[in-house]
Amino acid sequence: MISPKIQDAINAQINAEFWSAYLYLAMGMHFEAEGRTGIANWFKIQFKEEQAHAEIFMNYLNSRGGRVVLKPIDAVPESWNSPLAAFEATLAHEEKVTALINNLYALAEAEHDYATRGKLDWFVSEQVEEEETAKNLIDRLKLIGDNGLALYMLDQELATRTYNVPAPLAANA
Ligand code: MG
Repeated sequence: MISPKIQDAINAQINAEFWSAYLYLAMGMHFEAEGRTGIANWFKIQFKEEQAHAEIFMNYLNSRGGRVVLKPIDAVPESWNSPLAAFEATLAHEEKVTALINNLYALAEAEHDYATRGKLDWFVSEQVEEEETAKNLIDRLKLIGDNGLALYMLDQELATRTYNVPAPLAANA
């Protein structure tokens, strides 16, 4: 049985993961409307990944005899001035999520909930990847600058991204 304190914290994290999903879906829709279909594809896959993160936490909470409580999802921004602005917002957001995961990890340790701490290990590594990917795209977009052809080529490249079910979810399927 999971402690009420950890249950509340995981429910808050589920909400944060859904907010992330909502944010990236909004970015996907924005860039689709702007004709940047490759960038839109990248964000729509990011949306699915965030939904999967929420699902991993929901499955875990149920497996520990806890109760999932789905709270309202706050509104997200509607538009971004450029692909660079969107990826900078992505990095800033992922840095916040990393801090949330770290806080959850510290809480699990303080509460001697080692099962939860172990479950979080995958998320700790995932956040390193999320930040690295966003930073890499920011660096490339800065190099691209105003070069329309280079941006077109990056858009084509991002169109090839496909969705892979995250490992903890694939293992449960
Ligand atoms: Mg996430």
